[in-house]
Amino acid sequence: MRVLVVGGAGYIGSHICKALAERGDTPIVLDNLSRGHRHAVKWGPLIEQDVRNVSAVTQAMSDQHIDAVMHFAANIEVGEGQREPLAFWDNNVAGVIALLQAMERSDLRHLVFSSTCAVYGEPQTLPITEDEPRTPVNVYGQTKHVVELMLEDVSGIGTLNYAALRYFNAAGASPDGEIGEEHDPETHLVPNALKAAAGLGGPMHLFGDDYETPDGTCVRDYIHVTDLAQAHLKALDRLRDGAPSFACNLGTGSGISVKQILDAVESVTGRPVPHSISPRRAGDAAQLISDTRLARELLGFEPAFSDAQTIIKHAWAFHAPRWGVASL
Ligand code: UDP
Repeated sequence: MRVLVVGGAGYIGSHICKALAERGDTPIVLDNLSRGHRHAVKWGPLIEQDVRNVSAVTQAMSDQHIDAVMHFAANIEVGEGQREPLAFWDNNVAGVIALLQAMERSDLRHLVFSSTCAVYGEPQTLPITEDEPRTPVNVYGQTKHVVELMLEDVSGIGTLNYAALRYFNAAGASPDGEIGEEHDPETHLVPNALKAAAGLGGPMHLFGDDYETPDGTCVRDYIHVTDLAQAHLKALDRLRDGAPSFACNLGTGSGISVKQILDAVESVTGRPVPHSISPRRAGDAAQLISDTRLARELLGFEPAFSDAQTIIKHAWAFHAPRWGVASL
């Protein structure tokens, strides 16, 4: 299968490309390289293009004999979205409108869409099922929610079959150390904790230790990026087998606190994690934990690498040599 991976030079997209190639499919990356990395495109061609350019994307679909599409090209940093909402709506929403137009012109009907648990906002029930009301509390979550509504409408007229995969906290790096998380600036917990352990950039800010959680710090459901990639392949196969459109959480069902992540970083790296307690970060829910039943039922999803030790071990093996630090 020839799969157009829009945003395939980014963190999650590049892991999907690797997983597609490992099973014999060809990933064709379309990426404007505004955040992605040329060096992360290793398993097929790179078309350096903005997804909002409908005619160029349509042309690429025809030139590359594309069979199915996956979309990862989005702005993801919550704080940035609050500061620059228009840029988020433009890239995250207008980008998908353009992609759907190109798919329609190209008679392509299968789309795996990268969504997020941020569509739920502050959940009323834990673990979070797919029936939880979708009331996002930040611009990032709003844009993903609105795209899901659009996908529902387009799918309703019978021209599109999509899977909207609502990720919890993607983390880790490929087990062989080939690719990993390289955001700039980095805002995510695992790389920031590793950076502090490596002695780079000063102490990490721990955003809030007064939440109503067992140790006062936020609880999240961390999922290894390689497990996430496998779930995407299964979602794509399900659509190709003729299943109707669906939305599904991707998490492990286990909550891990920020403090527990720092403990795991200390244990994996053998180094302390210098940190200071800082005020809560705007928009952070106290706890986000996925109900995993639907992913198991629809995708047969069983995470293989998503325990904290393995996530951190793989992330450290990826970062340490790049930072010039001995990994053990
Ligand atoms: N966090 C933190 N310090 C950091 C980065 C994150 O304390 O430098 C906390 C953050 O407040 C949240 C958790 O770690 O409670 C996970 O944040 P991350 O940005 O990794 O993912 P998010 O939950 O925002 O998708």
